[in-house]
Amino acid sequence: MRWKLAAATAVLFTAGLIGVPAAAQAGPLVSARPSPQEVGRALATLARVSDGRVRLGIIGRSNEGRPLRLASVGHGRTRLLFVTQQHGDEPLGTPAAVRALRELGVGNSAWHKWLRSRVTVDVVVQANPDGAVRNQRYNHDPGAAGEYSEPGVGYDINRFHNPLTPIEDNPVPESRAVLRYWHKTHPRVVVDYHMQGRYRQPDGRETTASILWPTSPLVQGKPLDAARRVAVFTYDAMTERAGADVTRYPGGDYEGIARNAYGILGSASLLAELSDLPADQVEFQINSAYVSMVSTVTAAADGSLWRVDPARADTVPARGPSLPGAISTLSRADAA
Ligand SMILES: [Zn+2]
Repeated sequence: MRWKLAAATAVLFTAGLIGVPAAAQAGPLVSARPSPQEVGRALATLARVSDGRVRLGIIGRSNEGRPLRLASVGHGRTRLLFVTQQHGDEPLGTPAAVRALRELGVGNSAWHKWLRSRVTVDVVVQANPDGAVRNQRYNHDPGAAGEYSEPGVGYDINRFHNPLTPIEDNPVPESRAVLRYWHKTHPRVVVDYHMQGRYRQPDGRETTASILWPTSPLVQGKPLDAARRVAVFTYDAMTERAGADVTRYPGGDYEGIARNAYGILGSASLLAELSDLPADQVEFQINSAYVSMVSTVTAAADGSLWRVDPARADTVPARGPSLPGAISTLSRADAA
């Protein structure tokens, strides 16, 4: 099995590196900033051309009634959960996820079949559709008030995953839906995809992505080790297989942040932030996220994810200062 896996992985990543996924002939991609309708159409096509190997579901509804879309591939024991675009103005995880679902679900080689027998991959694709249509960080809730809200606009979904709060007291339908799905499936790995501004490292290179594991003091021991393994693996995959420059994201300890929340619940939890680079590097950024998703799935399937040295997480360089005068493509506020 080892040689077969290595060969198949090599093919896959060669394809990923040059931006032509192996299953490119089957099904469309979405744009860099897709509308919820565009996401829905692309996923429906993937379900069809994969002969049902990409399975579609809805884990809840936004305040405006939009479906919170779930797409799943595989039937293996090890479960992974990816979440994209909790912040509506941070879109690039969504096209990356559509691409990963196509690769994992439409591809049907012996290697793909083996992979799907080992893992179940769930993706909450575009977790904040109401924010996506407005290109805004928050969900849409004119009654929003209090901490982690923009009064009259909505709530910051990524502050409402606190597993210590009774779910019926949680005012954010998108967060409730992800939390409930977590409790239903107990994924071993959770990766949450966001976007950040632009940063320059002391060596002059620009950060293209940042990552961070749970930093809540409530996450200790095995779940923390596992999260740091996923972080190191993601660092290696993004740098070596996608050419990314990856740094450590300076995130906080609050339990309501998905990165911390799903670590508290016991998953190997990671935040991935793609920098908001100019238009000619958007494809590079989508590919970085795509490569990290497919690589992590592969390493979870063959177990290599758990043989990474978690102590190496401490060597991921700190993020440098903000790049002055940077022009952002996606015109968004800079926040995780
Ligand atoms: Zn964000």
